[in-house]
Amino acid sequence: MASIFSKIVAGEIPCHKVAEDEEFFAFLDINPVSAGHTLVIPKTEIDYIFDIDDSVLGRMMAFAKRVAQAQEKVIPCKRVGLAVMGLEVPHAHIHLIPIQKESDMYFGGEKMQVSQEELADLAMRLRAAFK
Ligand code: 5GP
Repeated sequence: MASIFSKIVAGEIPCHKVAEDEEFFAFLDINPVSAGHTLVIPKTEIDYIFDIDDSVLGRMMAFAKRVAQAQEKVIPCKRVGLAVMGLEVPHAHIHLIPIQKESDMYFGGEKMQVSQEELADLAMRLRAAFK
């Protein structure tokens, strides 16, 4: 069965898209830990990130770098933090999180409450900044 993220790539489940190329897709996390929390995934479904072929993984990281550069332009932050867990969704993904301080990357706490309108506006600005 297709993963929830494959369904997002196929347009069967809505998302706030940030960027896309032939191989990779980036979209806002539905439950952001900090503003601009974005997920980068390979379009080809694979569960565990460290099962990804080296050359694909390299291109995925280069794609994530371009997404992070867009986040830096749009969201005031000191850094874009990167995390990989994959405990919830069995489709490899990189969390890219604009941070001011370490606790902005805390996954165990309350998630942000962000309206669909705010997410749509943020995704639009990130898409415009993506190079
Ligand atoms: P992980 O698998 O790395 O533990 O976490 C999965 C992440 O995917 C979580 O941050 C969760 O909020 C996000 N997520 C789960 N389902 C959806 C969805 O349907 N849409 C979006 N945009 N994000 C999702």
